[in-house]
Amino acid sequence: MRHFFLYCFLIGLVACVSRENPQPYQISQGETMGTYYRVTYRGTDTFDRQLDSLLIAANEELSTYIPQSVISRFNRLSAGDTLVIDYGEGVDVEVRHLYANLDASTFIHTLTDGAFNPCVMPLVNYWGFGYTGREPVTQVDSVRVDSLLGLVDLSSVKYWNEGRFFFMTKEKPGVELDMSAIAKGYAVDLLAEWLEDNGVGDYLVDIGGEARGLGVNAKGRVWSTGVNTPEEDAALDALFAVIELPDKAVATSGNYRNFYEVDGQKFSHTINPKTGFPERNRLLSVSIVAGDCMTADALATACMVKGMPEALHFIEEQDSVEGYFIFSDDTGNLTPEYSSGFSTYLKSEE
Ligand code: AMP
Ligand code: MG
Repeated sequence: MRHFFLYCFLIGLVACVSRENPQPYQISQGETMGTYYRVTYRGTDTFDRQLDSLLIAANEELSTYIPQSVISRFNRLSAGDTLVIDYGEGVDVEVRHLYANLDASTFIHTLTDGAFNPCVMPLVNYWGFGYTGREPVTQVDSVRVDSLLGLVDLSSVKYWNEGRFFFMTKEKPGVELDMSAIAKGYAVDLLAEWLEDNGVGDYLVDIGGEARGLGVNAKGRVWSTGVNTPEEDAALDALFAVIELPDKAVATSGNYRNFYEVDGQKFSHTINPKTGFPERNRLLSVSIVAGDCMTADALATACMVKGMPEALHFIEEQDSVEGYFIFSDDTGNLTPEYSSGFSTYLKSEE
């Protein structure tokens, strides 16, 4: 009998503790892809090691800053040669990192009528935003830009798989890939889906501002994330708007941080694949909300190339994708405009 009372007391105590102490939130964070990552998730286990290994594995395929990555090996490949990757027994090659990015890039390239093009690498390097180093162009060589433009040709990149083997080849010498405009979004999805597969129902994955949320935060509210004020001299944490993410992802592209100036002319890291020049229009920042972060990331970059009002029209035509655009008006004021369904996600504006 004494044991029975003790048993009841302990059960009561456990029930009481679990009511007052719901599962805690964990934070795993670090650096990846030239920026920070921060993953907040509900559960008693921490997944620091697993999340970090996923990011390392993705970078070993996608980073042009790692000389031995799969993408770097492809970039150095001579035309007509074939790169072969053996993923080993039992691996589904079609869901591997570079393969998945190539599939998604090809789809978004067609969807955006070429505004998104993962073959911009030679131009990104020429303009000083790539792996060859940050060297501002002081004298534009338009003959060279024209010849590099000939290398921006996705149809010359071939990839396929046979069982455990992945093959890549290029038909034109000098063609190189750059997944910077889509890889962060891909990595956000990679971590988000890993968490879901491991039973996590409440999380926010954030890699350098590209984010995806599911469920609620520690206060029981839908996750939200900020859109930075797109001004060169704005504080890093100055927010223009706050966006809610109810089982959604968001990615933002802008030209207000990654640029340089020569003789009063600004050169930014978004390259227009039709002209070969850095695109500079009145659009300063684009935030795209989509079901997955990879799509959001690639579309945000494409919208920066398209500019206003084409970018807004383009997003209106897409199903399940919304966009928030900040551009400078005739008098130089920052003006927001957004697609018809975006208000669902807009928590507050500046
Ligand atoms: P994001 O910050 O996602 O807009 O990506 C910008 C980066 O993507 C640049 O730094 C380039 O490395 C690369 N990039 C630039 N222009 C394009 C483009 N038109 N299509 C695909 N990638 C691009
Ligand atoms: Mg992007």
